[in-house]
Amino acid sequence: MDFLQPQPLRISVEKQGPDRLVKQRFPLRFGRYSEIRTRDFEFCFNLNGEIKTIRGLSPAWPHPAEQFKRTIGNDWVYYTVGDKSGDEGIVSWMGEYYLPCLPYPSNPVWEIKYFSNPVIMNALAQWSQLFGNLYMARSKGLYPHAKGLMEKILSHDDQKLHSRAQKLHQIIGERISVLPPDTRHVDYDVIPLTLADGCLYHCKFCCVKSEQNFKKRSQESIRRQIEALKVHFNADLVNYQGLFLGNHDGLAAGKDLICFAARKAYDRFGFRQIKDQIPRLFLFGSVGSFLKSGRTLFEDLNRLPFFTHINIGFESVDPATLTRIGKPIKASQVREAFEKMLEINAGFDRVEITGNFIAGDRLSPDHDDSLADLLKNTGTKSSAKGAIYLSPLRDSPRKRELLPRFYRIKEESRLPVFIYLIQRL
Ligand code: SF4
Repeated sequence: MDFLQPQPLRISVEKQGPDRLVKQRFPLRFGRYSEIRTRDFEFCFNLNGEIKTIRGLSPAWPHPAEQFKRTIGNDWVYYTVGDKSGDEGIVSWMGEYYLPCLPYPSNPVWEIKYFSNPVIMNALAQWSQLFGNLYMARSKGLYPHAKGLMEKILSHDDQKLHSRAQKLHQIIGERISVLPPDTRHVDYDVIPLTLADGCLYHCKFCCVKSEQNFKKRSQESIRRQIEALKVHFNADLVNYQGLFLGNHDGLAAGKDLICFAARKAYDRFGFRQIKDQIPRLFLFGSVGSFLKSGRTLFEDLNRLPFFTHINIGFESVDPATLTRIGKPIKASQVREAFEKMLEINAGFDRVEITGNFIAGDRLSPDHDDSLADLLKNTGTKSSAKGAIYLSPLRDSPRKRELLPRFYRIKEESRLPVFIYLIQRL
């Protein structure tokens, strides 16, 4: 309900945005949430009373569609729309209308120094100011209709938000160092559930790996995580449309554990189909685990009440590059896995396999040429599935110069090609 008071806060205790996630230029709020507006800022809160987004409303704000978003890992990410609109803008290389600018080291091809813009950074100061104002308003008995909302917000100060993120990492066993690129389809809002720790390869170039050897979790661990996550996400569970079965090689956990976890999570978290939109399931897979996966695994995934995205780390089809980055697989295996990706994408309507390749300004020309050749001459019949993500190496000094090379590969490719930005949770 909206109501205006003489005080300069406009409080909407509960708002209902569209249920369906739709990609668009302006950030629509999906699902149910609360909103407080001051003259110059709009603050949105999830159903637990945790701050989620801040957007400037004054003419000084860089763009009406830009905003800060706080993740469940408690990172404040600034969403920019860039300086070019239309098909030449960010959407052409991210597949989305926004570029998330991260407050920690990552691999962006385009860095926006939003933190040196006082207008933008004032948004975070205004959040502290709002918190103080709500505290005063509660003690004076103002905004009686919003009393419950104010209580919830005030019980989630910055210290509490920080400890909630730590609690989340403790439930699943560790912080998620990288999300699959396909999670962009739900704006990176996923419930993480750990199926297995570590990974098979420990590649030399990788900046997100854990030191552990690959080890599957037990069904009991998955049950325990699900119950703890249900309590943790609490009222806001209704707003989630995505489940990430982590960590770096969920696919290697095998058909039985994947399907067990997906079905249990679907029931306990209350996922549901909204009109024609079914919830999404995300996993990473390695070339090895993907090649080992039999057809029955994909048949079973196709029967789940999810649309499943599996992202495979191909990295390169150039043997010298694979050696140089310390990836212990052969180019022939990468080609075989690439062909299998096309076959699975054509054969299963509720499964999409996508792939990652590295990009860097110090890699041999053979890497770019072999990749361009692979994507140009692929035998795919449809480009609706099978997105390819190019992931700039973190230590490339001239990342922005990768864009023209990216466009060259993209233009010639028969599959959709995007840039992969490493984002944590
Ligand atoms: S690239 Fe993938 S397989 Fe290699 S170390 Fe990193 S997480 Fe593990």
